[in-house]
Amino acid sequence: MPFVEINGLEYYRFDLLGNEVIQAVFTRKGGVSPQPWASLNLGGTVGDSRENVIENRRRIFDALGIEVESIFDVWQVHSDKILLSEKPRPLDHPHEKADAIVTNNPSITLFMRFADCVPILLFDPVHQVIGLIHAGWKGTVQKIAAKTVQFMAQQFNSSPADILAGIGPSIGVDHYIIGDDVVQEVNKSFGSQGKIVLHPVNGSIHFDLWSANEILLREVGVKSIQVAQVCTACDLERWFSHRAEQGKTGRFAALIKLRKS
Ligand SMILES: [Zn+2]
Repeated sequence: MPFVEINGLEYYRFDLLGNEVIQAVFTRKGGVSPQPWASLNLGGTVGDSRENVIENRRRIFDALGIEVESIFDVWQVHSDKILLSEKPRPLDHPHEKADAIVTNNPSITLFMRFADCVPILLFDPVHQVIGLIHAGWKGTVQKIAAKTVQFMAQQFNSSPADILAGIGPSIGVDHYIIGDDVVQEVNKSFGSQGKIVLHPVNGSIHFDLWSANEILLREVGVKSIQVAQVCTACDLERWFSHRAEQGKTGRFAALIKLRKS
């Protein structure tokens, strides 16, 4: 089963990524936040109290047996900006803006926040390098997944064929209707493959973010990809969904850390 329960929390893990990394996409269960952020909200800018978010973060790190001080997280801005993390972010330091983070430092936990956008976890077991990506439609049309794989190749000599990739819980094609402006951006970015990722249903266009990101990863040579096939908008007991909850919701956490240290 891909879901693991621990200390009243629950997380999704990718079988493909194996046990050389600590990896988790936490559901919204087991935290202290009230509605509409109930209950394991990690979003610091959604109206929930700072105390709740800090307690929720503590529960996540405790559950996995890792230090909160190992965190490297960013201010996610729907860009294609990639950061190389060489040391944790001191908890009293401001976040840098980025939507992909990469490290080979086993004392760092890469950490991001989601509510429908796609979490993509990357692991190169040969060079012991990890990456974490936040890809909504903007990041996807900017090909941030492909750029992050290329960044790992440049920085660490990673071979894309060695990289294992997990495409995590996020809004599925069934729930993701987009407007004409976004359709145009997708077609501009994906060209002839636009047909594969855009689906007309009853006069609306649905965008398949999972297939789109899988295409981007395969185009740069990634061969081992696991798609969670879990739609956030389909299961509000487990996930925060910006779309399904009209923006009044929290953010769930995804993280990855090299195990050897
Ligand atoms: Zn759905």
